Amino acid sequence: MVATRRAARATRVRTLLAERPHTEPLLGFYLSLLDVQAAVCDRSDAARWLPAVEAPASEQPLLRLERLPLDVLSPRFRRFCHDVPASAPEPIRLAAQAVSDGDAARRTELLLALLTGTDVDAGAIAFRCDPAPLVFLARAFLSPVAEAVSALVDVPAPPERTPLCPCCGWPPQVSLLRDETETLGIRRLVCAFCATAWVFPRSACPGCSTTDKKGLDLHVDDGAPHVRVEACPQCKRYLKSIDLRVSGLAEPIVDDLATPELDLWAEEQGLEKITPNLLGL
Ligand SMILES: [Zn+2]
Ligand SMILES: [Zn+2]
Repeated sequence: MVATRRAARATRVRTLLAERPHTEPLLGFYLSLLDVQAAVCDRSDAARWLPAVEAPASEQPLLRLERLPLDVLSPRFRRFCHDVPASAPEPIRLAAQAVSDGDAARRTELLLALLTGTDVDAGAIAFRCDPAPLVFLARAFLSPVAEAVSALVDVPAPPERTPLCPCCGWPPQVSLLRDETETLGIRRLVCAFCATAWVFPRSACPGCSTTDKKGLDLHVDDGAPHVRVEACPQCKRYLKSIDLRVSGLAEPIVDDLATPELDLWAEEQGLEKITPNLLGL
């Protein structure tokens, strides 16, 4: 299932590379990264790790990913860093080399910092690089693990207007709109880490959970009519919404990466993204 999702993302990237050639530096790198991510783990790994991370069904988030077996993952992280594509931006290539060549205990600490939401400053000092590329490496390596484990569990029904992923507790990356069997025009939020999608009210802000009478401010660019910026007038944060009724071939995570001009527009308006995507936009 996760392999199918990854293949769908790769197909979508190839389509968008043809339609939106200006995004090649971003999407070309992302496409080669998908191959490296595919080698991180498979379904049987995820099934073996699930019992250690699964909390009782009454608890949220359902998965405590900080309990993943870091002794098993750390050598794989080293290989991942070694295999980071040559098309990566220079700070990422240099950080990948430093992590790959560096101390094993520091590599494990970096993974744990990402999983527990603590800063990576100690790693930045140890590996002599900026925190941002280290966060990128840990996130790019661990998100396929999070997605594979999350794909094995039933998505818990979150309490009304929960802005955090019911599986792993991360914030949403992007929102999608589509028609489903029971409901037309349903809105789901897609997790920035494990890609779980959960139902969320259309007029509510996933940044501060409030529902203002006026609703969210919307902005659409002619170049991508199925992608719109949904901005909250209260907390001044935004995320993009991908309308699958307008473009059924869209892949929300990819279409977010492929529309950096909307992030630039939002920045010019003084808006802050709820959480940056993998490539830092
Ligand atoms: Zn998640
Ligand atoms: Zn808000």
